[in-house]
Amino acid sequence: MAAPSPLPAANANTPLIEVSGLTKVYQTPAGAFTALGGIDLRIYPGEFVGVIGKSGSGKSTFINMLTGIDRPTTGDVTIGGVSLPGLDETGMARWRGRHLGIVFQFFQLLPTLTLVENLILPMELNGLYSRAERRARAMHLLEQVNLAAQADKLPGAVSGGQQQRAAIARALACDPPLIVADEPTGNLDSKTADAIFTLFAQMVKDGKTIIIVTHDADQARRVDRTILIADGKVVNEYLARALSALDYEQLAEVAGRVQPLTFASGATIVRQGETGDKFYILLDGQVDIVIERPSGAPVLVNQLSRGEYFGEMALLGKTVRQATVRVSPDHSAALAALDAAAFDRLVQEAPVLGRQLTRTLEQRQKANLARSRTGQPAG
Ligand code: ADP
Ligand code: MG
Repeated sequence: MAAPSPLPAANANTPLIEVSGLTKVYQTPAGAFTALGGIDLRIYPGEFVGVIGKSGSGKSTFINMLTGIDRPTTGDVTIGGVSLPGLDETGMARWRGRHLGIVFQFFQLLPTLTLVENLILPMELNGLYSRAERRARAMHLLEQVNLAAQADKLPGAVSGGQQQRAAIARALACDPPLIVADEPTGNLDSKTADAIFTLFAQMVKDGKTIIIVTHDADQARRVDRTILIADGKVVNEYLARALSALDYEQLAEVAGRVQPLTFASGATIVRQGETGDKFYILLDGQVDIVIERPSGAPVLVNQLSRGEYFGEMALLGKTVRQATVRVSPDHSAALAALDAAAFDRLVQEAPVLGRQLTRTLEQRQKANLARSRTGQPAG
């Protein structure tokens, strides 16, 4: 098979951020505490990424490695080709000033400077723009967040939502490609939080890459991609997507219980007529669902891609496999598998998941039936 020419695709798909083998161990009076247990991740230009997870899971620790506010114990964070752990303090400050905008939960505007001065300061510190341009640019950014009328007020004289809007405008002052925000709406009422979130969404449309830690499930639904952190590790996103009916804690537990499996192109994963013993979630690649008929060619009834699952039919219905599942030609497949006992326990513990699976099952049975009557033969 001729591989596609790597050049244009490689340019378009060059990660902005590459995190590899990242760990953070804090030394505490009670001993060493592993806050991040090995994170590997790529984030691409223009992505709107939500970092979610329960309190204490390691979100801020992780974010602080991306901003260079703190340093990893082991591993690397490369942003735009620059390895952050390799920079000294001066180099880090210089790099951050030009490449990164940071928004904090508690705004952290300088209290003795007016809003417009708070925006001018980072441009001055980074030696960007002329004096006149700085003020014009600061005013323009304040207009964008609807704060032009408050420009000459001190932070203490405006509301929390206004302070956070000013802090967002400040993060944009040096026009960085990347904005990182740790619970930027955590201290705001829900209506204000929603407006702030809309500002971030607009910034993504304007071409920024944004990583935002959020506690809010409604906000988490508005990003392009969520990274769930549990106990200092990233839960596979496609596992999380497939089992979106579960809460963070249940997901983290399942993530610890699944067995990783890989199959080569064309390999059969489950065979029609056999007794089901596992539930599978597709983490990478593509699989074909094929119905074998007593007479005539097998029929391809469905194709699944990452974030989808199969194998629940036989387990839920306590029947034999209703279809054969094999890896699509020219693909390989990475899967997470749960054995029948673990699957049954999960469905009992999380009735919503049971209902989600049953709904999918009914839809698929209908579709399979329709397609197996009229469908094209499988290749
Ligand atoms: P989150 O932002 O998800 O709430 P954090 O990253 O702040 O979580 O913390 C993750 C874990 O690391 C927590 O158990 C926290 O108590 C611990 N931790 C964070 N910072 C330190 C520190 N400086 N020293 C020791 N332990 C820390
Ligand atoms: Mg935090």
